[in-house]
Amino acid sequence: MICDGCGQASERVHDIEMRVVRDLPILDAATWISVPRRRVLCGQCGPRLERLDWLERHARVTRRLAESVVRLCRALPVKQVAAFFGLDWHTVKEIDKRALQRSLDPVDLSGISVLAMDEFAIQRGHRYATVVIEPHTRRVLWVGRERSREGIRPFFDLLGEEGCRRIKAVGTIRNFVLGGVIVRKKETHHGPTQRASYP
Ligand SMILES: [Zn+2]
Repeated sequence: MICDGCGQASERVHDIEMRVVRDLPILDAATWISVPRRRVLCGQCGPRLERLDWLERHARVTRRLAESVVRLCRALPVKQVAAFFGLDWHTVKEIDKRALQRSLDPVDLSGISVLAMDEFAIQRGHRYATVVIEPHTRRVLWVGRERSREGIRPFFDLLGEEGCRRIKAVGTIRNFVLGGVIVRKKETHHGPTQRASYP
């Protein structure tokens, strides 16, 4: 166990408190995790929370859920982001506010083989944003303030040639959320060329 105060390892547990935190959905089902939150008895700091790399000190959501919320907040209003993840408006607002003070690490795209993308009208329909998610977890991978094919190119640049080859299927978020059909990727050397049409 690592002390959250000084970062040193400690063997002794001071006490344990159960904490329930929200995580990314599992196959579209809202998911909570019961976490036995330990306080270590640190030689230097006394009783301190155990440091976990996936859960921040007093967070009510896991780090990966918070990161997805923050990415989506870059393109959509808080209300829409809250609806997308089934979270409370205040929770999303708080996550977004805290994230403004620090920047996100680049998203890890290794192991991504299925993508869902959709465009959302923003600024009262005057502009569009494109959102790319990993459909089964709704992890937000990328948000662009464009909707043209050129506009999505930076995402595929990020994915790289190797990553593009791994992609087996691409659909729209609506398709996945409704459990609909996904569109097979055409064989290309750089990204999908075919997109699902809106229902
Ligand atoms: Zn310590």
